[in-house]
Amino acid sequence: MTVDRHEVERRIERFKSVARGAGVKLTHQRLEIFRAVASSAEHPSAEAVYKAVRRSMPTVSLDTVYRTLWLLTDLGLLTTLGPRQGSVRFDANPEHHHHYLCVRCGQVLDFESSDLDALSIPDSVNRLGRVLSAHVEVRGVCARCARESAGTPSDGSPRFSSHERRMHAEGAS
Ligand SMILES: [Zn+2]
Ligand SMILES: [Zn+2]
Repeated sequence: MTVDRHEVERRIERFKSVARGAGVKLTHQRLEIFRAVASSAEHPSAEAVYKAVRRSMPTVSLDTVYRTLWLLTDLGLLTTLGPRQGSVRFDANPEHHHHYLCVRCGQVLDFESSDLDALSIPDSVNRLGRVLSAHVEVRGVCARCARESAGTPSDGSPRFSSHERRMHAEGAS
């Protein structure tokens, strides 16, 4: 799945101005690594970004890709999903949004919801640590997986019986 070309250009312009403002050198490698995340709607892992950029930059190393992704994250250009030390995935969507996670194929899709944006963080979370951001993760079996397991075209009533909602709160101590 790819991101609209104009949206990718918008993200790249933002990347350039943020990098300039932070005094970070705009190298071809950094630009291509950012572009790989910015043009993917799949919340790619570092390995997936590495595979994507290696086609145009065969000499790039996985280590460089990792370091660049974390640099871009520190600049606020990317956010991450999952624990930092696990199989972390990167997200270039700058809008506040929520995630739909397919428990079967693992794809993560973005959606927006003003109702969910308005959820308040309970005091019990503030006691755990400072809250930086929060989003809702909705889990289910995506339409594609549901179609594949049914073996027939969707009849409009996909079997999303086990939606599970989880709220993530990233805290900093
Ligand atoms: Zn799926
Ligand atoms: Zn996202």
